[in-house]
Amino acid sequence: MRYYVLDRGDQLSVRLAESFHKLAAKYGLQLDAESPDIVVSIGGDGTMLHAFHTFIDRIPSIAFVGVHTGHLGFYADWKADEIPALVTMMSGHSESGELMPRIVRYPLVELEIQKRSGTSSYVCLNEFTLKGVGGTVVAQVDINDQLFEMFRGDGICVSTPSGSTAYNKSLGGAMIHPSIEALQITEIASINNRVFRTMGSALLLPKHHHVDIYSRKEQNLILSIDHINLPLDDFISVRCQVAKQKISFVRYRPFPFWDRVRNAFLD
Ligand code: NAP
Ligand code: MN
Repeated sequence: MRYYVLDRGDQLSVRLAESFHKLAAKYGLQLDAESPDIVVSIGGDGTMLHAFHTFIDRIPSIAFVGVHTGHLGFYADWKADEIPALVTMMSGHSESGELMPRIVRYPLVELEIQKRSGTSSYVCLNEFTLKGVGGTVVAQVDINDQLFEMFRGDGICVSTPSGSTAYNKSLGGAMIHPSIEALQITEIASINNRVFRTMGSALLLPKHHHVDIYSRKEQNLILSIDHINLPLDDFISVRCQVAKQKISFVRYRPFPFWDRVRNAFLD
């Protein structure tokens, strides 16, 4: 079993990472920064986004585990004092005698950016947003190659089911259970009046549908993928759909999504 640990960099997370390494060595787990089987993120949900993008080229062969050192997170659902239990279980020494942890797989969103200088592909765990810098975004939205609407406003957010509790939620989007393979489009402050009209509602699209967003004026845009900002100089369009690959999380015990939602937003 090869593992890697990524921490948020604060005192508690760094200390926990150190104690993880000590225990891991004791149980014969092998530290491997290149091709780990399990990547442990210690910090918050933001740390998991960081871990995901660090290993973006190896997503199909990695399982992720998140330990939270602040409030309980959506991706970071292990407590700080559970590190010894986590290491024991990762080494296959669980008290229950159960060797294989359960792997849960969450859908991702893939996007392809078309620029005059070429195309580039990305995958997001939470969402991507297209926003204007210092002005209204004018963009054409096509669904499955059919014109859907002309958007005017601050921007557009396309989120994954597990990202639906993040930025998407702030935009009035629905929370989507990650067993549903879909992407969700929400508007960021669209302009709606007698002249300009957008749908206004969040849209939920199934797998195998695709969306193209075309820039429809000379404008400065910024595209954010999770926590990463990409400036767009010669942007033409972005195409997105539910990704072919999924992210795997190690679950050594059940922690239902709706419990996490309740815990994060109501309790
Ligand atoms: P951040 O500013 O620390 O993130 C904002 C908050 O979102 C943090 O509390 C973060 O939790 C939480 N979060 C991240 N992923 C989540 C998820 N899947 N479900 C519920 N909450 C989640 O920046 P960051 O840590 O680098 O995270 C980047 C994310 O921030 C973006 O992907 C976007 O979803 C979100 N964001 C939200 C808004 C908004 O709501 N208006 C605006 C910009 C970005 P932790 O503290 O545990 O990291
Ligand atoms: Mn954060």
